[in-house]
Order: sequence, then C-alpha cells, then structure tokens
Amino acid sequence: MKFIDLKLCDAVYEGIEAMGFDEPSKVQEKVIPLALQKKDLIACAQTGTGKTAAYLLPLMHHLHATKSEKIKGIILAPTRELALQIDQQFQGFAYFAGLESTAIYGGNDPAIWERQRVAIETGANILIASPGRLLSHLNLGYVDLSELEYLILDEADKMLDMGFMEDLTKIIKYLPKDKKRQTMMFSATMPPKIRILAKMILTDPEEINIAISKPAEGILQAAYLTYNNQKNRLICHLLKEKEMESAIIFSSTKHTVKTLVKELVVEGINAKAIHSDLDQSERETVMLDFRNKKFPILVATDIVSRGIDVDNIELVINYDVPQDAEDYVHRIGRTARAASTGVGLTFINEEDQFKFSRIEKLIETVIFKIPNPPEIGDGPEYNPNSSKKKKPYPKRDGKKNFSGKRKPNFNKNNKKKD
Ligand code: ADP
Ligand code: MG
Repeated sequence: MKFIDLKLCDAVYEGIEAMGFDEPSKVQEKVIPLALQKKDLIACAQTGTGKTAAYLLPLMHHLHATKSEKIKGIILAPTRELALQIDQQFQGFAYFAGLESTAIYGGNDPAIWERQRVAIETGANILIASPGRLLSHLNLGYVDLSELEYLILDEADKMLDMGFMEDLTKIIKYLPKDKKRQTMMFSATMPPKIRILAKMILTDPEEINIAISKPAEGILQAAYLTYNNQKNRLICHLLKEKEMESAIIFSSTKHTVKTLVKELVVEGINAKAIHSDLDQSERETVMLDFRNKKFPILVATDIVSRGIDVDNIELVINYDVPQDAEDYVHRIGRTARAASTGVGLTFINEEDQFKFSRIEKLIETVIFKIPNPPEIGDGPEYNPNSSKKKKPYPKRDGKKNFSGKRKPNFNKNNKKKD
C-alpha cells in the first residue's frame, strides 16, 4: 500500500514527503482508514511500529482546514520526553497544514508554565500533554475545551503503570459532554486494565492488533553489507561455495529477479524465477518442480514469499531488505521449518541500512554482519542512522494556513513493485 491510497489531503501528503516516509507501516495502514471515518479505536502494536503517525496524519487531515483558534484535540502521553517527541513529529508533518500544537508537561520553571498558559489561551489547536500537568491547567479554569473533537491516549499502558488512572478520569470529566468526540487509544500491550479504561472512554471501538512474529530459533541469521554492484557476484560466490539442494533468493522487484536468474544460469547455476509476469500455470509448474527438488535455486519476488510452502530449504537470501519486519520474518521463515536448521542471509546496501536497523529493533536481535569475501571486496560501512532518509524538520514561520508551492510527488522514491 502507498500513502496515496489512504486518501489524505494534499497538505498532509506534503508533510509526509517532508518527513521522508515512503510507505505506511502496518499499523498506519490499519488505523488511518478507520480514523478517517472518525471511529473510536484501540490499537495495540509494539514499540517502533509507527503508532505516532497513525494518529497524527488523520488528525491533521481532519483539522487542516480549520480556521478555529480553539483547542480541537488533546494527545495525552505519559512523559515529558514523549510529549516533546510527539510535538516534534507533529510540527514536522503539520508545516503545510498550518496547524499549531503545543507541548504541556511538568517541571518547576515558572517561565515554562507561563508559556504553556499563553499557548493554551491563544490558539493552539492541539495540546500534547502529560496528564498531571494538563490537569493542573484545567483546574485553573482558563482551558477552553468547548470545541474539542479529538482525544488520543498514547502509550496508554504506560500511563496506567505510572498511576495516571485517576488523572485521566478527572480529565475526561472536563471534556464537553454534548459534543461528538473521536477517542483513540494506543498501547504496546493489552493488559486487562487497558480494556477497562477502553470500556470507560471509547464508544463502540474498533480494535487493531498488530502482532510481530519473531524468526524461529533454529534459523541462523546473518547479513552482508554490499554495494548494489557486488550483490550478484556475492550470490554466485555463495552458491558455488557449497552445493545447495534447496535455496530461495527473494527480491522486491521482478526486474532484479529476471536479471539475476539470467546471470546465475550463465554461471552454470541451475536457477529458475517466479514472479507476477508468469501466468498461474507457469508459476505452479515452477513451484512444483522446486518442491520436488528438480532444480535447487528459486529466485522470487516478495509477492510469492507468503505462499511458498516448501520444507527443508537450507538457505534464504534477501537480495534487498524487506519493507518491514513482518516480511523479513516471513521470508526467512521459509528455512528451518519444523525444528530443522537453516540460514537466512540479507544483503544490505547503503540505502537499506536504516530499514534494516528498524527490523533488528523490532525482532529484538542484532544480526551479525559477515565481512565480505576478499574476492568481492569491502562493502559500505554499517551506519544506519546516516542512511535515514528523513530530512530536517522544516522551520515554521508561525503563520496559519501556509500554502506550500511544492507539489507532493510520492512515486519518485517508491521502487516499482509487483
Ligand atoms: P511507536 O510509537 O509505534 O513506537 P513511532 O511512531 O515512534 O513508533 O515510530 C518509530 C520510528 O519509525 C520513528 O522514527 C518514525 O519516524 C519512523 N516511522 C514511522 N512510520 C514510518 C513510515 N511509514 N516510514 C518511515 N519511517 C516511519
Ligand atoms: Mg509511540
């Protein structure tokens, strides 16, 4: 799925582009369409899956046309650090939508308190707040919530662990009763007390659960750092080093699949391709022959990775880094089935390093980077944070309804996939 399929308004797309996001994450894919219908929802997905944008983008879509200077939405978060982090992401996305947010958090500095009070009274559309400090402002009576339409609880599980239940209940009492409100809850875990809170504050909610599976224990995972022009040579090297009975190479584009197969065959390696340009019966024949061990090396696009059910594959090579952790686990899960052991290798070029580091984070495993064989030569250094495509946040000029002249172009970075 592409962001463009989510039917967000242009100003929001410009924000997405400015942030350097190419494709929505799983949780964004599930949450955004429901949030756009103004449904109440609770979404449970582990840390690092992109929950912040899942609620910020639809919120901005709904609010970008607002001319109101009143508070439209409140985002509650357990800590000052998180509130600031969300505010920073909000400002990155919201530049083109002309929305004002302000972070409200605790501390003893009277100047900060005063700045928060002024922002609350003079036109912040969104408050991003820790519960305790928001409540202190609410208790003083100058917070006008008469136009509030959106309430979001981020890291709801952590807020409850930190003892904010009572504060949350008090905050809810301050919200207008006669106005329709969309409430969304986000959490990394779903303990019973979260369900109780959800029952209290959500109306007829949708529930979204994104479970990230982890690779089976028996899989030996490793990676090579490679420039693109080293990948084919490295594959030939690996496949010639040890005779394989069954191995799969995955790539995200059919172009790569086709050219790699040609090259392997020229090198005397018995490989066949499977991709969406083959018709159904051709695909079935290739799969059947591979399953029956008539040829040892299958080169496949992503599209078939989930459907491939072949036992005893010794080796899976990711020619490029899969889009997300789920795909990674699926791809290397083709090996080491039913307690046998297998090897999952991933080639990481410079561009894919940040993506790979996110996968490592999600599966909570640091994957060993094997030095390249001398005949292939050194690859790039592993430096995932500098390959992060994110551009610096645009500077804000404080003006409302800023209309950017740049047109969003979401296709230019997206590799064509099949
Ligand atoms: P969570 O709240 O689920 O822990 P975050 O919203 O903090 O996750 O996102 C984790 C990281 O992933 C952030 O650095 C964020 O900028 C990045 N990110 C989120 N969504 C995308 C996306 N669609 N494309 C690229 N990067 C993303
Ligand atoms: Mg988060």
